[in-house]
Parts: sequence; structure tokens; C-alpha cells
Amino acid sequence: MNNENWFSKEAISDRLTRICEPHVHSFFRANMFHVVGKDADLVIDFGMGLADLGSALDIPSGKPVLAVATHVHVDHVGSFHEFEIRLGHEAEAEAFALMPDADTLADYFRTQPDALTAVPPTGLTPEAYTISTAPLTTILAENDVIDIGDACYTVLHLPGHSPGSIGLLDQRTGEFFSGDAIYEGGLVDDLPGCSIEAYKVTMTRLSELDVDIVHGGHGVMFGKDRLHEIAVRYLASKEG
Ligand SMILES: [Zn+2]
Ligand SMILES: [Zn+2]
Repeated sequence: MNNENWFSKEAISDRLTRICEPHVHSFFRANMFHVVGKDADLVIDFGMGLADLGSALDIPSGKPVLAVATHVHVDHVGSFHEFEIRLGHEAEAEAFALMPDADTLADYFRTQPDALTAVPPTGLTPEAYTISTAPLTTILAENDVIDIGDACYTVLHLPGHSPGSIGLLDQRTGEFFSGDAIYEGGLVDDLPGCSIEAYKVTMTRLSELDVDIVHGGHGVMFGKDRLHEIAVRYLASKEG
């Protein structure tokens, strides 16, 4: 399999592309997003690192690229190291620099049956899988703003799924990239590093958040009503 056809790409609009790895087991098949900005492009999340993501993206040479990881889990950071300007939350800064299994959970991928349905361009087998370290060049915290010229994204710290999970919200348009804090599909709060208590606070916040469209770390996009519904259901499921 060559580099170009390892990824699937879906044009959501003329400025937003969703990228996926169809040959990766569904548990680890995450969404990546490429946002074309006026002054800089934004790339959100980085898949498994089994192919060269940067060359698969349509980015003019010389244009600045801001690479933002929503959190340090294995299915979101594999190709993070390819990018020069790397942003992530302070709570996971050390994890990005070292990529230990305890934070990335890469050991779950190594031992996942049928982890891949095709040999990736790098030829890597799941058993030999490692993640290149990717120290942050910009450390993010709640309320920081990422400006790409014609859009600004506010950082929301949304811990629970992982300590440094973040979302990016364009407060002008309501476009919301939520990472694994919330998405359409089974949410994960029982792995090492998860905190149900923190997740409940995050879900309370998400249950009232004003957005237009949500692009999750997995699954399909959805709207505000569905965002609130998923959050309220999560909270109800943790009561009693
Ligand atoms: Zn995750
Ligand atoms: Zn994920």
C-alpha cells in the first residue's frame, strides 16, 4: 500500500478536510482534520503514524502549519512529530516529549487482534509499533487562542478521557473540534489516565456549550442538540 492511498479524505467544505485510516482497527481509527486558513493551516490530530501524513495533505510549500494534538493517545499522535509547530495541553506536555505507553496506551494497539487490515507504507507491524516523540513547541492552556488569519479557535480544557484532553472552538461560527472528550460512538472513561470525576465536570460543561457543528475525534459530525444529548446521557449514566 502506498502513502497516498493509506489515508481516506473527505472534503467537508472548501476549507475543511477530514482524514482517516480505513485499514486501522475501528478502536484506533481516529479522525484527523485539515483546516485551510488565510495565514496558516491547522492540522488537528495525527493518526497512528503508519504513513507520512504531511505529504498526504494538500498544503502549499512554505505555508505555516499549526499542528494541534487534542490529547496524547496512540490513535491521535502517530504523525505529530512530522510537524514543526506542535501545540498541546500542558497536562500532557511531558507525555508528548516521551510518548510512554502509560500515557499513549500504545500497548493496547500492539496487542490488538486484527489491528491492521493492510500492510502500511512504513511496513511496520503492530508488534513492532512505536511512536516518535514530539515535544510541544507551544504549550496550551484553557482559553488560549489559536489564530489562522480568518478563523480563531479557543482552547477548552476538557479532561476526563485523558488529563490533557482539549477541544477547539471557533466562537464566531460555532465550529467545534472536540477530540475524544465527546464524539458519536462509545465514549471511553475506563482506561489508565481516565477520570470519571473530571469527565462529569467536562460533560456538564459540554451539556450547555453553544456550538453549531461538532467534529469529534472519532465518528461522524453532529450538531448542538446531539452534543447536549450525549453529554446529558453520560451524566445520567453515572448517577446512582
Ligand atoms: Zn483518546
Ligand atoms: Zn481516540
